[in-house]
Amino acid sequence: MCGIVGYIGDRDAYDVLIKGLRRLEYRGYDSAGLSLMPRAGELNCYKTRGKVAELERYAQDKDKSGTLGIAHTRWATHGEPNDINAHPHYSQSGDLSMIHNGIIENYVTLRTKLEQVGYTFKSTTDSEVVVNLIEYIRNTMGLDLCSSVQHALNQVVGAYAIAVIDRNDPNLLIGARKSSPLVVGVGENEFFLASDATPIVEYTNKVVYLDDEQIVLLRRGEEMKIVDLSNVVVTPEIHELTLDLSVLEKGGYPHFMLKEIYEQSRTIQDCIRGRVNSEGTEVILSGVSQNRDKFMAAGRIIFVACGTSWHAALIGKQMIEEFCRIPAYVEYASEFRYRNPVINEDDIVIAISQSGETADTLAAVELAKQKKAFVYGICNVVGSSIARATHSGSYIHVGPEVGVASTKAFTGQVTTLAMLTITIAKERGTISDERYVQMIKSLQQLPQQMDVVLKQREKIEELSKIFTYANNFIYLGRGYNYPVALEGALKLKEISYIHAEGYPAAEMKHGPIALIDAEMPVVAIATSDSIYEKTISNIQEIKARSGRVLALVSEGDNQIGNIVDYVIEVPTTDEFLMPILSSIPLQLLAYFIAVNKGRDVDRPRNLAKSVTVE
Ligand code: GLU
Repeated sequence: MCGIVGYIGDRDAYDVLIKGLRRLEYRGYDSAGLSLMPRAGELNCYKTRGKVAELERYAQDKDKSGTLGIAHTRWATHGEPNDINAHPHYSQSGDLSMIHNGIIENYVTLRTKLEQVGYTFKSTTDSEVVVNLIEYIRNTMGLDLCSSVQHALNQVVGAYAIAVIDRNDPNLLIGARKSSPLVVGVGENEFFLASDATPIVEYTNKVVYLDDEQIVLLRRGEEMKIVDLSNVVVTPEIHELTLDLSVLEKGGYPHFMLKEIYEQSRTIQDCIRGRVNSEGTEVILSGVSQNRDKFMAAGRIIFVACGTSWHAALIGKQMIEEFCRIPAYVEYASEFRYRNPVINEDDIVIAISQSGETADTLAAVELAKQKKAFVYGICNVVGSSIARATHSGSYIHVGPEVGVASTKAFTGQVTTLAMLTITIAKERGTISDERYVQMIKSLQQLPQQMDVVLKQREKIEELSKIFTYANNFIYLGRGYNYPVALEGALKLKEISYIHAEGYPAAEMKHGPIALIDAEMPVVAIATSDSIYEKTISNIQEIKARSGRVLALVSEGDNQIGNIVDYVIEVPTTDEFLMPILSSIPLQLLAYFIAVNKGRDVDRPRNLAKSVTVE
């Protein structure tokens, strides 16, 4: 994970780097550091354990001059998060400084080899090996920096996005990537390097997305040059960014997470816009219509995803089976990639990832491609690795999600899956024309209904106070609401650090019901759907054992209120779309409980937003 930023140009690099790190802090915040080159022969490095704000404090009275620099915010994989393990790392001579995002799998072997020729290491990271390997190659083979980087990376096994500078060359910044993202920003006489485009967007809208095993040379006053690991020159493809700067700010909300929860009625509109025609009679997903034959002939649909996206996939599976009558399966990408799964040529593999950089999901995509399946991506970040690696796909178009706990991306993913389902079902003739129009109509009502749910903020805030005492929580749901229970529990765990489990309500009696006592809060999602009565019976079983039940019910429900302790109402929608509404009160509940507990909601401990390491 981690965020990396680099700058070379006429500006003060420090300002660009710090601002960039703040934008990338969602990617990791175990430690932060930067290297600045004030003039040839001089390299200043400041790094510290903790967040970017701590780095700023640390650097306060230091020399911050220089128009070339690199910076890093870390999510530790190798070595504890302390000052020494913070990046940048230096080569033995002190000439080279490097930042790294990813994991060097063969670092022990490389480190041992370097130790045998006299290298010593200050940190316990895998990354420090790379900068020393580059230096060793440069010294022993007499190569320039770019060729040394090339040779070194040919020996490295693993994932990396790196940026390197040389104290004796104040005019050169080098970047390279494999399986970790790296974007180059192209300005007037200046270049930027970053893990994603957010640190770049306020300076230029011209970017180049580096591909795997490519090295970029950014030399002051010259055009950029890209070569691959075999030294083949690659012509840079410049893309225009359309990112709006204002959406990267908190807009008056205390946390990005709350802002993003409240954005949902708009982001769902953005997600639907352009896909549903103005009369509301047709859904057009170009990714499906352009590949109609694949979807018509699909033997199975296999979803691969991680975390919240995996929960969205569980909902997608139910939709696809119910309406398209295609057998559907959901896999954790991290398991799928390593277990030699059966993948047929008529399978469609759908990869879901907010960032489009999730390392395991990307690897699952590659595996599916090798086995000749048709691979469809559902991502948020435009131009991301998964978006580029898949054969086709749909963006969820919910705008940048900064809060580490995913909210608007989840509802965007489910909405996109709903549109995908409706489109495929229509093409395959598995739903009637009448049902088709009815489903679209329900979809179009969602933004308005979301606003109704969001108006319950005060009520949910009050309820959160009642439940902040708890050390454990159980979330129950059935059918389409079962993945919502999983997602609600995950939100609570992520940001409040309260242990929570999501369960299919009827499974309780096969074990977990033993946990129920008067101390145990149970959140039951019991909206009026086809299994409503069954869910009520499950709630009765909990109440009979004195559990404290907070139920999510449909507006106007007059049954459940008599059984449970607290009730939150949500508007009624078509059953398959219910998760888009029922997940919102659970996001708010987790948010307020975490705030009551004084947690750092946008930067929960041990987490990072985009999991670019496996
Ligand atoms: N593996 C490196 C480390 O532990 C980089 C981790 C990251 O991507 O932040 O320092």
